[in-house]
Amino acid sequence: MKQQLNVDLLCLYCQQKLKGENNRSYQPGDSIKCDACGKPNDYDRVIEVAQQKAIEFIKSQTDGEIDITIDKPDVK
Ligand SMILES: [Zn+2]
Repeated sequence: MKQQLNVDLLCLYCQQKLKGENNRSYQPGDSIKCDACGKPNDYDRVIEVAQQKAIEFIKSQTDGEIDITIDKPDVK
């Protein structure tokens, strides 16, 4: 049985969920401003942290097929 895992992108400084700016596409090298603390988060680093969390989660689960979906601000 397949499962889906959604991972929120979190601010590297205050751990609040990053929403991104409306109608804006983010690309590698961009920074995402945090609504909560106002600090710019490096896009690549934020994605990296989210992916790491997903991997850790999967490792903590019993073996099974899991599809990983990472929510990016640019798909909103
Ligand atoms: Zn923040």
